[in-house]
Amino acid sequence: MSAPTIGVLALQGDVREHLAALTACGARVRAVRRPEELHGLDGIVLPGGESTTIDKLARIFEVRDPLVAALAAGLPAYGSCAGMILLADRVLDGTRDQQTFGSLDITVRRNAFGRQTESFETDVHLEGVDGPPLHAVFIRAPWVEQAGPDVSVLGRVDVPGMGSKIVAVRQANRFATAFHPEVTDDLRVHQYFVDLVTAA
Ligand code: GLN
Repeated sequence: MSAPTIGVLALQGDVREHLAALTACGARVRAVRRPEELHGLDGIVLPGGESTTIDKLARIFEVRDPLVAALAAGLPAYGSCAGMILLADRVLDGTRDQQTFGSLDITVRRNAFGRQTESFETDVHLEGVDGPPLHAVFIRAPWVEQAGPDVSVLGRVDVPGMGSKIVAVRQANRFATAFHPEVTDDLRVHQYFVDLVTAA
């Protein structure tokens, strides 16, 4: 396959960083705001940002329903942080009217890492990514509270006093991290997704 075309949902959040990282990994990229911009995509990235805002804007821009349909039909997708929340089938501590796009059989807890750890950086070993652990940046991040039987856990972090928490998962061609690889120079997570899309 020649270079895959990967969209980045561009309603809010760190869109530019994802577009740059995907481009550096050899993908053709497209910012997606409107339903017609979903056509012909080989994969899509849901960026970090604020899941409640992205949810609202997706409804206003009328991109929600076609995106939900594309995900349900198997469009490969990667969500970082807010994007992980948007891919989750279930969300805890969301706002009252918050909806997700779904397609990943997980329950996420929004803003899960309490006050002291609202933002932090740590090293995470990601299953399927070779080399040294990733330097992972967490910003008001969710964690995965529960994962369904078809979901592979790819990464965890130890939270003092609370045990080991799931921060990276994959189910078929859906992939999500609670952290933000797009704010580091390390391209391995985006390369992992580009490879996943290319193989799909
Ligand atoms: N807490 C944000 C949310 O609920 C996610 C934060 C992020 O993407 N850095 O969407």
